[in-house]
Amino acid sequence: MTVNVKFWGVRGHMPCPTQEHIVYGGNTSCVEVAWGDTALILDAGTGIRFCGNEYVRRRSQSAVVLLSHCHWDHIIGLSFFAPIQTHGWKVRVLAGQLADKGGVGAVFANAYGPGPTYPHPLKNWYATETTSFEDFRAGEVLTDLAPGAVVRTTPLNHHADGATGYRIEVEGQVICYVTDTEHVPGSPDQNVLDLIRDADLVIYNATYTDEEFPSKVGWGHSTWQEGVRLCKAANAKRLALFHHDPNHEDSFMARLEDEARQTWEGVLVARDNMALALG
Ligand SMILES: [Zn+2]
Ligand SMILES: [Zn+2]
Repeated sequence: MTVNVKFWGVRGHMPCPTQEHIVYGGNTSCVEVAWGDTALILDAGTGIRFCGNEYVRRRSQSAVVLLSHCHWDHIIGLSFFAPIQTHGWKVRVLAGQLADKGGVGAVFANAYGPGPTYPHPLKNWYATETTSFEDFRAGEVLTDLAPGAVVRTTPLNHHADGATGYRIEVEGQVICYVTDTEHVPGSPDQNVLDLIRDADLVIYNATYTDEEFPSKVGWGHSTWQEGVRLCKAANAKRLALFHHDPNHEDSFMARLEDEARQTWEGVLVARDNMALALG
């Protein structure tokens, strides 16, 4: 069975729907990995609104959202994810680095209202009885998310609260989602190497270039060149550059894409609404 990967939002930091972001897109992080009638959703940035609108038309009444972490660009779309606003749907939202910090449910309860940042409490925008916020510990293997899928996880290097990388193994395909994470130049992240070993597709936090990186140390992100180095070292087949800097407008991204593809033929640059069929 074919595994379809759809990029609903590829930007990092904040949405940027301008004339200079039309080609590569301006929505923040959301990727759907689907096979048959089943899917896993990675992150809930602004792209998840479009995902949800299609989801309610074609899916059975359940959805699983795996969060890399809870920075705004990865969660801000959840309240406008149609399944979570629809009674009768069962929605699971999972995160891997908050078990000792109050849990992912508390993060959402605090982020939303009633209050100055959002008018409605959680219980007003989702079906309380069918939505669950669940915590696991990055490093665990998750086997109860979707029939036939094994999801391995690993901790990433991203500020004090960290982030979680995912490796989805399903239908003979391996898709990895590695964002947000900062590398140490000259010292490949062994957790990431282990996670992406022999993967068919690695979606990687390529916010910056190696040239920009020295001025971005401590910002929590990596470069497209590091993505290439990691994929080659781990024998991964393809690399999707992801979580683009909003300051990288289309003309910059086109030059980056040319350079990256000349560096390694396995590279592609993710764009909003790009769809890949694997297998
Ligand atoms: Zn981010
Ligand atoms: Zn982040």
